[in-house]
Amino acid sequence: MLVKDFRTLKLGESLLNECLGDFSRPDFPIGVAQNLVDGEWQPLAPEWKRTIVNPLTGNPLYELPATPPSEFSRFGEALRRCPKSGRHNAFQNVERYKMLGAVSARAAMLLSDVVVQDYFTRLIRRVMPKSYRQALGEVTVVQKFLENFSGDQVRFLAKGFSIPGDHLGQETRGYRWPYGPVVIITPFNFPLEIPALQLMGALYMGNLPLIKADSKVSIVVEQFIRLLHTCGLPKEDIISLHCTGQDMGIFLAQYNEDIRLVQFTGSTGVAEKISEIMHGRVRIEDSGFDWKILGPDADKKWLDYVAWQCDQDAYAASGQKCSAESILFVHKNWTPLGIIDKMRSLAARRELKDLTIGPVMTWTNEQIGSHIAKVMQIDGAELLFGGVPLSGHSIPAEYGAFQPTAIQVPLSAFMQHFELLTTELFGPFQIVVEYDDTTLDMVLDIMERMTHHLTAAVVSNDDAFHNKVLGATLNGTTYMGMRARTTGAPQNHWFGSAGDPRAAGIGTPEAIISTWSCHREIVTDRGAVPSGWSIPPAS
Ligand code: NAD
Repeated sequence: MLVKDFRTLKLGESLLNECLGDFSRPDFPIGVAQNLVDGEWQPLAPEWKRTIVNPLTGNPLYELPATPPSEFSRFGEALRRCPKSGRHNAFQNVERYKMLGAVSARAAMLLSDVVVQDYFTRLIRRVMPKSYRQALGEVTVVQKFLENFSGDQVRFLAKGFSIPGDHLGQETRGYRWPYGPVVIITPFNFPLEIPALQLMGALYMGNLPLIKADSKVSIVVEQFIRLLHTCGLPKEDIISLHCTGQDMGIFLAQYNEDIRLVQFTGSTGVAEKISEIMHGRVRIEDSGFDWKILGPDADKKWLDYVAWQCDQDAYAASGQKCSAESILFVHKNWTPLGIIDKMRSLAARRELKDLTIGPVMTWTNEQIGSHIAKVMQIDGAELLFGGVPLSGHSIPAEYGAFQPTAIQVPLSAFMQHFELLTTELFGPFQIVVEYDDTTLDMVLDIMERMTHHLTAAVVSNDDAFHNKVLGATLNGTTYMGMRARTTGAPQNHWFGSAGDPRAAGIGTPEAIISTWSCHREIVTDRGAVPSGWSIPPAS
């Protein structure tokens, strides 16, 4: 489809043309979000209307329904109508594999157009302020992901296997089977990438997904769903519900027997609650307390690169990536090279005006300040940089706005303050710890005691060091080598935590298959009655 046509599309009640309009006006309204059920966009009922504010100014940005539990039955019934055998599987509606491949191909093409890319990039930034490059990164990942699952690739996801049997006519085959009615719950920090990738994965494997995105950003996935409809996705294929998190908990409790799986991305507390409601039928992507370790092979020629990557990992998107560097273990060989000074000067380049630092969506300044104060009370704690709120802005008080901050603590501090020092502050904050060859085992012990195992980076070109650290740890997405990072997982890397059987994955074919389908074995046993066969003795 030509961009010219896309420009004239009516994306819900907010015209795309309007959205492409004057984004330089800080409060240019971006529209109204609606529920989608039974293939119909529902008009926004005035009595449940909720207004989302611009996180940079506090002024109204868009309206959406805060759907109350009294209205849930239509959504629950729609899910209930989907059988547990799903919308398609190897024995029924197989044409849907090709249809979804074609939808993905068209959507990938649209998203590769600069005008459409720019539209989604700006939309993301309006609701979750981050730099243009960071927001564009989401759009690019989604575009490439859709390309990856174009054509026949959706049916290849359903690839099974077969094993010959004990006699002619017997064969066993393994199939990837859908769950049927499923729910996807997504957080605020990747308004497009997380919901888009999980939605498509759920669809590809034959499920009927109901999506509930974080209300602060749910206009973005809504626009993506409208784009999918434009690309030929049947409107009944996705249900979209806007409601508060608390009410979503009520929805899950109410329909918990009908929903076969909840894929949740967000905080650990909510993940555990949902896991309980669903009796474990969950796939979780929860909090990250992500570590990076700089190995003993400190090297001046790598200094700038390693420091830059630390800055990106800790502070891009204002530290609000689940994979953000929460703690940095620095081998003492890096200290004389001036790694901390480099990191300090890179952090100082971050500015509100281009959103290389911006609002913290779930921690207020009071909460950030109080966490910093507690860490600073530890014996030997040193503020390396930051530690003060941003000034000269109109970010509302319900959001945080803090300078990129790093606090160094001695390794010994973990004996007494383990919990405090391994608490995820979802903002531009990291702990720095120096170690040496004699204390590496203490570092490994800290990693072992951590409760979350999402991303990690082993920054070194030393094979023996790799073996020692990788062999003793388990983070689900771990980078190794001098260019190792904790953030930035694109669509070609499995992204997800390890060590928890409920962990979900996102991005790759394997992540989709493991998150969105289960195994079914069908054993074929046919042919003639064996010659000379008679009923054997009872056994
Ligand atoms: P959150 O748990 O508060 O919210 C996530 C989603 O859950 C939102 O849509 C919210 O409305 C919904 N929700 C809240 N309470 C609910 C309930 N009782 N029942 C059902 N749904 C409910 O998380 P957040 O603060 O928006 O996101 C930040 C957290 O998410 C961080 O801890 C971050 O590390 C984590 N995260 C993890 C990944 C990952 O891949 N592991 C990715 C992104 C974010």
